[in-house]
Amino acid sequence: MDFWHKQINRARELAEGSSPANELMVFYTHLLRAQLEVSEFLRTAPLTGKLEQDVSLFRSKLDAILSVVEEAGPAPLVEQAKSLRAASESEVDEILLAYWRAPSDTDFFAKAFLQPYGQLFQNRIQSTFDEKRCPFCGGKPQLSFLQNKEVTAESGNRDLMCAKCLSTWPFRRVVCANCGEEDPARLGYFQTTAIDHVRIEACDTCKHYIKGVDLTRFGMAQPLVDEVAAAPLDLWATEHGYQKIAINLVGL
Ligand SMILES: [Zn+2]
Ligand SMILES: [Zn+2]
Repeated sequence: MDFWHKQINRARELAEGSSPANELMVFYTHLLRAQLEVSEFLRTAPLTGKLEQDVSLFRSKLDAILSVVEEAGPAPLVEQAKSLRAASESEVDEILLAYWRAPSDTDFFAKAFLQPYGQLFQNRIQSTFDEKRCPFCGGKPQLSFLQNKEVTAESGNRDLMCAKCLSTWPFRRVVCANCGEEDPARLGYFQTTAIDHVRIEACDTCKHYIKGVDLTRFGMAQPLVDEVAAAPLDLWATEHGYQKIAINLVGL
């Protein structure tokens, strides 16, 4: 069941109960149905994600929201619906775009109408989001590092650093930063006593590796530089058939 149907079912349940909010929930159920209608229309529309361009494609569906209010809404909203009906297309667009740029809680119609639009893009972003890539530029991780983010944390938190823009972002501990493998039996570690705060984090599923710098063992380390300095570990990884996720500046 999709998001909007779940909301409608729940609102209907509450509308049928004996709560004092009954009447409100009846109205909200109708409103959610209108939002579902907008959402279903949007699903097949050739949207760009830029409201300035998209608004003309689905502006006409505002009618669904206006009708619900006219039939069952509170008086002040009915008044607003009336003036929106009388507004020109460009006036309506202006109201919608103004809300999209700076949302206001009192702008009921723009809010109700644009929620399905916002939700659609939020879903698309989430489904294409890849935690193994830099959230800022999409680059591959250069290295992984552990640090205590909170004084109370017992084990360090793992972050990745982007090879392209040097941004860092949080990443789960026992997961391959290349293919997402989570099975601990497929993930191996290698380190030497000479450099005990840097280790190879290798994956037997995709045969890739990344180096991890442990700042909880050696807080003076600079992950970017210490990763380069731990060159002997790259030799070990290459000899064992692992490929690095992203080569560093000195070509290792
Ligand atoms: Zn980046
Ligand atoms: Zn992997």
